Amino acid sequence: MNFSAKNRENLISKIEKDLFDVIIVGGGITGAGIALDATTRGMKAALFEMQDFSAGTSSRSTKLIHGGLRYLKQFEFKLVSEVGKERAIVYENGPHVTTPEWMLLPIYKGGTFGKFSTSIGLRLYDFLAGVKRGERRHMLSMEETLERAPLLKKEGLLGGGYYVEYRTDDSRLTIEVLKKAVELGATAVNYSKVESFIYEGGKIIGVNIKDMLSEKEYPVYARVIINATGPWVDTLREKDRSKSGKTLKLTKGVHLVFNQETFPLKQAIYYDTQDGRMVFAIPREGKTYVGTTDTFYDEDLINPQVTPEDRIYLLNTIHNMFPSLKIEEQDIESTWAGLRPLIHEEGKDPSEISRKDEIWHSESGLITVAGGKLTGYRKMAEVIVDRIVPLLRNQTNKKYLSCQTKHLPISGGDIKVSDFQTFVSDNIGKLTLLQIDERFAEKLIRMYGSNVHKVMEFIKKADGDRKSIQLPPVILGILHYSIEEEMTTKPVDFFIRRTGALFFDYQWVIKWKKPVIDYMANYYGWTGEKKKLFQKELEEMIKASVPDEKEMKININNPKL
Ligand code: FAD
Repeated sequence: MNFSAKNRENLISKIEKDLFDVIIVGGGITGAGIALDATTRGMKAALFEMQDFSAGTSSRSTKLIHGGLRYLKQFEFKLVSEVGKERAIVYENGPHVTTPEWMLLPIYKGGTFGKFSTSIGLRLYDFLAGVKRGERRHMLSMEETLERAPLLKKEGLLGGGYYVEYRTDDSRLTIEVLKKAVELGATAVNYSKVESFIYEGGKIIGVNIKDMLSEKEYPVYARVIINATGPWVDTLREKDRSKSGKTLKLTKGVHLVFNQETFPLKQAIYYDTQDGRMVFAIPREGKTYVGTTDTFYDEDLINPQVTPEDRIYLLNTIHNMFPSLKIEEQDIESTWAGLRPLIHEEGKDPSEISRKDEIWHSESGLITVAGGKLTGYRKMAEVIVDRIVPLLRNQTNKKYLSCQTKHLPISGGDIKVSDFQTFVSDNIGKLTLLQIDERFAEKLIRMYGSNVHKVMEFIKKADGDRKSIQLPPVILGILHYSIEEEMTTKPVDFFIRRTGALFFDYQWVIKWKKPVIDYMANYYGWTGEKKKLFQKELEEMIKASVPDEKEMKININNPKL
């Protein structure tokens, strides 16, 4: 298949010098959404990503498909309405990567929201977002709030608002959207950097790509080129000499992950911080994660770091809201940091800047998509592709379909929402027959959705092939699947973005990293040097994600909030 890492070089030699209708630069959720929309309308689309797919912001978010309740505070009613409705569509098209999650908004005396304003605010939210009946908000008494979240601070607690958000795996959402695009004819290649643009008569007609794995450089041509590079959009606009007018302002957001034994949270909570912001605490896969911070950022874009200040800030919000917990910095299991590509607004604080997206069209013809959310990716793609239809029609005289993605399942999403639970229970049995324990079986079904049957074939095959390999068939099976069906090229792709394990199952990474690297080295025929390089890359990512104990001696009882 065209999304096999094994086939990557072949694919590159096929597309070298080729002419596409659309080239999309950037393989985050924005680029993936555009690739899918464009392909389904009959366009020949190619997407290039300089790192791995979703390695930018799209694997580092709070992992919620949400209607954006916080935007109500900024009176962005249209945004709440649009994004809220989109939420339901994203869920229906991929029920395996998106799960409804009841969220509790505790209300305190003197807090951001009063009981009345929360009740009105959430009702307005239900109305604007078109929330379905079973998921509309309830208001909870103080007792009901504590029943659901006994760890919450009791002092000043008045009650709670209870409403539905959707949990996702941002990285898997991106990969499932891309897989669907590729299945329908798009080309997508990771580790392929757009180094420069090619012009003719002042108009952009192509890109020069550098394959970051082989160092090979080659041109590819297109009628329309879209800059969907998130935090890097201004870097690309600089290459196009079109960075003027509005520009990006990046803010960093950090999350901390704890084991459920140390932070036994059973209920997702969206709570006030002492400095007037709001933070999520979300239970997930035996862990609890908390985030996020929101601070201006202008350092390394590829590897934004979690600083001791970031950790202390979040720990202090935890101490304040869950005072009985006594969580220490040593309890942090892993962390991640992401960069929000926001559109600069003079004089505003990070949390006040709008999360709206915009489209900019340069004189050379480069189309740039700036801002935006995971949640609105499909709609945003629709708007952009609507814009390029007339541009393409002028050049090709062809007709293009209207948007096709509203009811199009993404890869793995060929299950109705109403059938999803039955699908899960039916398949747990099948996976346990392959010696997989029930919990892991359920995880796999939720991860791969309707593709789980394919994954089972990979696991069965791995059982036959394995012989002296140090990996159990289930891990070998999912590794193989991710190589052959999801273009997993390096160990970091597998452990961070295809499985999410570095963030949510750090011990699993430690346990399996060596045999996985050994297997991949053998499979790809890496030289000793290359193997060491990829090993080092994984070790560095582990180090960046897991806090360094020495740095943690800072006094956490000195809150600077
Ligand atoms: P990215 O995912 O960053 O993708 C851009 C890609 O372009 C990168 O992978 C990069 O490597 C690539 N690239 C750059 N230059 C080049 C080049 N020259 N050649 C080829 N490729 C290149 N949204 C939600 O809806 N829900 C949330 O819960 C949520 N939480 C968030 C929490 C945090 C902390 C942050 C930072 C954001 C959050 N967001 C959330 C917003 C959302 O994650 C982002 O808006 C979205 O992921 C941006 O996707 P993107 O594709 O535009 O950018």
